[in-house]
Amino acid sequence: MNPRRISKPIQIGSVTVGGSAPIVVQSMTSTDTRDIISTISQIRELEECGCELVRVAVPDAEAARAIEAIKKGIAIPLIADIHFDYRLALMALEAGADGLRLNPGNIGEPEKVKAVVKAAKERSIPIRIGVNAGSLPKGADPRLTTARQMVKAALQQIKLLESLDFDLIKVSLKAFDVPTTIEAYKDIAPKVPYPLHIGVTEAGLPRTGVIRSAVGIGTLLWLGIGDTVRVSLTAHPREEVVAAYEILKSLDLRQHGPILVSCPSCGRTEVDIIELAQAVEKRLSGIDKPIKVAVMGCVVNGPGEAKDADVGIACGKGKAILFKKGKKIGVIEEKDFVRVLMREVERF
Ligand code: SF4
Repeated sequence: MNPRRISKPIQIGSVTVGGSAPIVVQSMTSTDTRDIISTISQIRELEECGCELVRVAVPDAEAARAIEAIKKGIAIPLIADIHFDYRLALMALEAGADGLRLNPGNIGEPEKVKAVVKAAKERSIPIRIGVNAGSLPKGADPRLTTARQMVKAALQQIKLLESLDFDLIKVSLKAFDVPTTIEAYKDIAPKVPYPLHIGVTEAGLPRTGVIRSAVGIGTLLWLGIGDTVRVSLTAHPREEVVAAYEILKSLDLRQHGPILVSCPSCGRTEVDIIELAQAVEKRLSGIDKPIKVAVMGCVVNGPGEAKDADVGIACGKGKAILFKKGKKIGVIEEKDFVRVLMREVERF
């Protein structure tokens, strides 16, 4: 894996993004921001599964004003997502937003951009320049690839903020198309010092969206690119947080909750390994400590993997060998597989 790209850290509320800080997991609420109770409730749910930054849509003044009350009910920093109306950005800052996501190009006249940048600077609030492949500025050079057009648009926006002596910048360049996303981030990474927010946008329903995101985000992380991650799914945002951690855990970039190792099963297995692994996964979902748990389907190849885990079982006919930290610690009956395995996990 490539060493992580060096970026200039920024502070979003209590969370550092970039530099040597851990890669931050974020999501976006799907509630109506004006519905303060539902939005707080969803953000708390996201906090419980490990979300570290949350973004809310700010489509109007009522949503901007709601930020103040929402902030009182949540523990993680909040980023206001603004499009077009600079007054909403000013109101969101006034209401206590910890970050802004906007595209200065959409704000219009320089005086309006200046007003937002001035207010953000006074409060040391970072701005994410978010360029999406689907909303490139009109008049983009058709000779350039979509990725290059995205980078060009982002560099123009960055230049605009820098010209106003503002450098609390984070950048994202998202596309639905994975190769375009990768090309865009690879292109911009050496050109700017700012932290990069990475993701594949509108990735789809969880089954395919998680795969697209894992390929896109995973490739970028492998290249050392990315300081904060959002997996965009057509699903409850908690699924985005779970998927983001799985991607980071797969590359050993973050530890968060258990890792379940389960074999694909084959003709050798004498238990219903799918049902067993699902039951264990369900029980593990309530645990936030990092622990590696193995559920293996036979005593031929199973013990090797089960030994490698913190706690594991290798199942035979009606019985399983129980391993803890590589040592066989007992034999358990089929009716006790989940109960005893979980007891050992909890003791670990
Ligand atoms: Fe088959 Fe055993 Fe390997 Fe599972 S661990 S896939 S049952 S050989």
